[in-house]
Amino acid sequence: MCNPIGIISERKRGGDLEKNEWVLCPVCGHKTRVQIRRDTVLIRFPLFCPKCKHENLINVKNYKVLIADRPDAKTQCR
Ligand SMILES: [Zn+2]
Repeated sequence: MCNPIGIISERKRGGDLEKNEWVLCPVCGHKTRVQIRRDTVLIRFPLFCPKCKHENLINVKNYKVLIADRPDAKTQCR
C-alpha cells in the first residue's frame, strides 16, 4: 500500500455521475454523516464531525471540501 492517504481519488467511470461521496472532516479526516453528489455545491455549510464533536463551516464543490472563513465569529487564537 504505497498510495497516499487523505486524497479523494477521482474515479471516472462512465454513467457513474450520480454516485454519492461521504464528506470527510477537513480537520481530522474522519468520515462524517453527510453525503454529497458530484454536482453538490455547499457554501458555508455547518459540517458536524462525530469525532471532533465540533462544527466546521465548509465550502464544497466538485467533491472538494474546504474550510470556510468565519468573519462573524471571533477567531480563537490558542
Ligand atoms: Zn473531525
